[in-house]
Amino acid sequence: MKKLVFATNNAHKLDEIRGILAGQVEVISLNDIGCNDDIAETADTLEGNALIKARYIYDKYGLYCFADDTGLEVEVLGGAPGVYSARYAGEHCSPEDNIIKLLGELEGTPTPRLAAFRTVIALIDDNGEHLFEGCVRGEIIEQREGTTGFGYDPVFRPEGYDQTFASLGETIKNKISHRAKAVTSLAEYLCAN
Ligand code: IMP
Repeated sequence: MKKLVFATNNAHKLDEIRGILAGQVEVISLNDIGCNDDIAETADTLEGNALIKARYIYDKYGLYCFADDTGLEVEVLGGAPGVYSARYAGEHCSPEDNIIKLLGELEGTPTPRLAAFRTVIALIDDNGEHLFEGCVRGEIIEQREGTTGFGYDPVFRPEGYDQTFASLGETIKNKISHRAKAVTSLAEYLCAN
């Protein structure tokens, strides 16, 4: 069976991808290869950061691998917070700090405040470098709704639904999300190659 490093130690992401690739690809984590390095995400695009992480592992360990990066892109904010989504409100901020900052920036802007979550996955295999993308459009609502999920989920309502990601719950979210779409397109590639 093919073996690939996923450049993450996020247990949730590992479970998700292992479930999708079960029986086709053995997915191993940074912990599994003894990598505790803090890989600096210094690019100004999602593609750039995903490639930095994948190249780091490939160059240092000589193992085929993939890495992801996600951002929330809000139209009226010119695509912000985008690649800076995790640290929008500052270097060591909490998810709640980020939501407060986002709602503050959007105060007084016309509704709907259109936005999209975008995930990019960079893969390095024996054919070189490849990028996969998944995107879900929606809007940023004015009041938080729901208690599941993480990050900006309480204020993001995906197109075609009348609840936020945090109200829809993990099962629905994991079927329609940006990450699910990017992972599915990675899985399609891996199964065909
Ligand atoms: P990462 O690249 O997956 O670490 O995501 C970067 C940041 O984007 C996270 O710290 C969150 O703030 C935000 N984010 C990513 N995915 C989601 C999601 O599914 N829901 C809400 N926020 C997310």
